[in-house]
Amino acid sequence: MDRLRSPRPELDDLVPYEARDIRADVVLSANENPHNLPGELLEKLADRVRSDIAFNRYPDPLATHLRTMIAEANGLDAGNVLVGNGGDEIILDVVLAWGGPGRSLVDLPPTFAMYGIDAHMTGTEIIEVPRLADFDVDGEALMRAIEERDPDIIVVSNPNNPTGTMAPETLLIDVLAATDALVLVDEAYFEFSRQTMRPHMERNPNLAILRTFSKAFSLAGLRAGYLLANPEVIRELTKVRQPYSVNRFTQVAASLAFRERMVFEAGVRDTIRVRDRLLHGLANLPGIEIFPTEANYVLFRVAQASSVWRDLLHDHSVLVRDVSRTPGLEDCLRVTVGSDEEIEKFLSAMDEIMASKRASEHFGLNATASRHMTKDGE
Ligand SMILES: *Cc1c(COP(=O)(O)O)cnc(C)c1O
Repeated sequence: MDRLRSPRPELDDLVPYEARDIRADVVLSANENPHNLPGELLEKLADRVRSDIAFNRYPDPLATHLRTMIAEANGLDAGNVLVGNGGDEIILDVVLAWGGPGRSLVDLPPTFAMYGIDAHMTGTEIIEVPRLADFDVDGEALMRAIEERDPDIIVVSNPNNPTGTMAPETLLIDVLAATDALVLVDEAYFEFSRQTMRPHMERNPNLAILRTFSKAFSLAGLRAGYLLANPEVIRELTKVRQPYSVNRFTQVAASLAFRERMVFEAGVRDTIRVRDRLLHGLANLPGIEIFPTEANYVLFRVAQASSVWRDLLHDHSVLVRDVSRTPGLEDCLRVTVGSDEEIEKFLSAMDEIMASKRASEHFGLNATASRHMTKDGE
């Protein structure tokens, strides 16, 4: 056969997730922890790898040791916890189980892209309730959508990636009371915001809380995340999930990191301190609008954002996230709170870029654009 049949038509509108591996000296684009696991944990992990991981055996599908530890730390039972191959896998499991053709998901854009992507690819209808200009959730519109559209899933990134905004707890309580839809509160940045909907789980069997090892725990490369939810929710998710998605090594490493999670506390406090410095530094640059944040990243608005992004990368080897093509985020960039040195480099690069923009505006030239035109021609 010299032809290939088309895949499902839903895929037509999807673009592959940017696997583009852009290299830079200072990587502030993915909200990762700037530091690898502490040396003492790496040592312990190396010992475990050498002594007792049976790589020849399939892993425990439910990661019992890890889920029990997570349950205890959250005052829950093991049956309330599901561990996944990153939070991303769990989001897909939720959409597979509660979404699908004929069902719908409420999305609150601009927000984390995976909710919409997973809904789209599973044939789940997406009900968009756009955020207000300051990125707060439009509570009235959300309550109206619940009443009129009776959705099956509602997802709230809290804090919201990429804006940094928190939804008020009172609004989430109202949402939980108004619907029996599965309400997924994505607390991927919980360690930084220190706010959680956990206290509302007992009263609301429809509340599910997502957390991850990828941000505060320095383990983005490991792929581990977990869900706190009613045992019925966990049971349904275990029907759709890949049984062996969390491998043995991941279970051991994540268990170790979780057991010793106190060692990450200093890093979290450091991140919050550096975040203040970053906010302060950006606020001092003319022409930049910053948005308040409860997470380990900052969203800011700057004219010609994509050209600033390019200057940061090409002239200073600093990589941030260009979100300016996302509706509602026109002219916005997102920068992760890195180490002191990284933020220093980012701020001085921004200072230089903004100064040269001002100079070129003064002479009525679009220096950034013309410079890159030459560069591309080289
Ligand atoms: C990073 C992130 C996740 C989960 O990431 P994983 O690496 O798959 O655990 C989930 N939601 C949001 C909003 C995130 O930013």
